[in-house]
Amino acid sequence: MIYDVLVVGAGVAGLSAALEAASKGTHVGLVCKSLPLRSNSSMASGGINAVLSTMEPDEVSAHIADTLKSGQGLCDPDAVRVMCQRAPATIRKLHKLGVPFDMTEEAEISQRSFGGSGKKRTCYIGDKTGAALVQQLFKKCREAGVEFLPNHFVMNLIESKGRICGVSVLRKSDSQVLAFAAKAVVLASGGFAGIYNGHTTNPLDTNGDMLAAALRAKLWVKDLELVQFHPTGLAKNGALLSEAARGEGGYLVNSKGERFVDELSTRDKITRAIMAQMASGEKVFLDVRHLGSAKIETRLPSLKQTCWTSLNIDVACELIPITPVAHYCMGGIEVDVNGQTTIKGLFACGEVACNGVHGANRLGGNSLIEGAVFGEVVGFNAAHFAIKNTFLPIDYESVAKEMRRVEYIYGGENLYNVNALRKQLGKTMFEKAGIYRNEAFLVDAFEYIKYLRKLTASLHCITKSKDNNVEIVAILELANALQVAEAVVFSALSRKESIGAHERTDAKGVIASPAHTVVSTLKGGFLKIERERTGAFWRTKRWLMRHFIN
Ligand SMILES: Cc1cc2nc3c(=O)[nH]c(=O)nc-3n(C[C@H](O)[C@H](O)[C@H](O)COP(=O)(O)OP(=O)(O)OC[C@H]3O[C@@H](n4cnc5c(N)ncnc54)[C@H](O)[C@@H]3O)c2cc1C
Repeated sequence: MIYDVLVVGAGVAGLSAALEAASKGTHVGLVCKSLPLRSNSSMASGGINAVLSTMEPDEVSAHIADTLKSGQGLCDPDAVRVMCQRAPATIRKLHKLGVPFDMTEEAEISQRSFGGSGKKRTCYIGDKTGAALVQQLFKKCREAGVEFLPNHFVMNLIESKGRICGVSVLRKSDSQVLAFAAKAVVLASGGFAGIYNGHTTNPLDTNGDMLAAALRAKLWVKDLELVQFHPTGLAKNGALLSEAARGEGGYLVNSKGERFVDELSTRDKITRAIMAQMASGEKVFLDVRHLGSAKIETRLPSLKQTCWTSLNIDVACELIPITPVAHYCMGGIEVDVNGQTTIKGLFACGEVACNGVHGANRLGGNSLIEGAVFGEVVGFNAAHFAIKNTFLPIDYESVAKEMRRVEYIYGGENLYNVNALRKQLGKTMFEKAGIYRNEAFLVDAFEYIKYLRKLTASLHCITKSKDNNVEIVAILELANALQVAEAVVFSALSRKESIGAHERTDAKGVIASPAHTVVSTLKGGFLKIERERTGAFWRTKRWLMRHFIN
């Protein structure tokens, strides 16, 4: 298979990139490990931010200011500016493409409040915003000739002399390892909060495969320790109760029925306020009863359904028990404002990338817009790169290596249960590298992850049939999850201060000018870590060094 542009991932970022690249006349393939309509983007419920001023006067400068404030000094101001300035046009374009945004009586796109924003700035489609976006983008991509390759698991990046040549892929239907060649590759494979298995809003397979591949390819990954915990996961199973509930006027109350925090504050602050309540023996609830059945029905139908199916709770007359859970990864593969990595022709966008728009703490509604805006930017740049460059031959030894790995996993007798190991990882991450961290916990986590990595190296499939074998994918995913988890804990250890989503109980004072944590892999698989100062000068210097090193 040969493509001008190959996109990995069918979320908002990947679909936006594919659509833009196809519109430039390039041959675009889009590969995803499940079905194209299944992604975190499809699960996104609350909304997508842009300054439209349809409900009240608003300014792009206010969107920039709110985003920078929430990011606590770790945002890249250029990336924030690009996102906020382009957001209104992106929303108008999506609307024109047929995305059915909820409208006001004056036929304007309706907007609601979200935490950390001073204004009604979040556009929505009931509380099924992501699903509606993905469906329409998918339809438009197909019309534009994008070739979809569902149920293909991307294993690794293939590069030659600092330039991308393609990716190695496991075809899930028969476990064949293939190579997809491309002039440009866009990674849009989402985050890794699924490694907090059992304590997350994310599905289990959101485990950072491409981040692990990036580490193996010696790319730099940035600020991985900054994992955002969403304050309102359903206590029973972590299912997300969207911020839209608070945006529409829902309250957070304790067992005595008392409100204890500004419900429209940022997620890190609300999460810590909830944890303080829980530490004092209180249970915490989301309360939407006062909104009335009609509003709940029209604005929060998914919330109503989730609570009913999971807990038999009628939210119109009962309180909803909640707990904070891992939700979003601010860190990721380091890219510049064009989405370019340090491998030529390799781009990244969406949650897998770290371009600096979210800093230490993402604002609700800023993730979908980041995916849509930078998906478009990256799609354009990838197409441009593909038009200007020729194909590079693929080194088939790298593919043969993956084939041998798959054969190894199919051979041999299994000693451990892959699902049990995944659960152990989730528990360890939540307890030791979760909402509160300290050095002793993180060292424990690091040691335990090393131990799990050893066990995982000897995992084999129990079922030997190669047709649609779920075990092989689960084993590959666990190996990636552990590689990412190790880098997260390593990064968390090196960030000694508390900032945004990273709360160190053993923090030593406040850091005047926060730095980035940047990790890469050395020969032999050892991790190398650097603390790097923020600001344009340091960013440019770092970027030049990276290109020089590569
Ligand atoms: C429950 C929930 C609700 C949310 N609500 C909101 C909201 O209201 N507003 C907001 O702004 N944000 C929200 N978010 C966050 C937001 O949805 C995500 O950050 C965003 O959708 C990420 O988009 P993405 O395109 O980067 O990746 P994703 O949507 O996660 O897509 C990743 C894609 O990559 C593919 N992939 C991954 N690994 C591989 C591999 N090895 N091989 C092949 N394919 C692979 C996956 O199959 C998938 O197609 C929510 C998140 C969750 C979980």
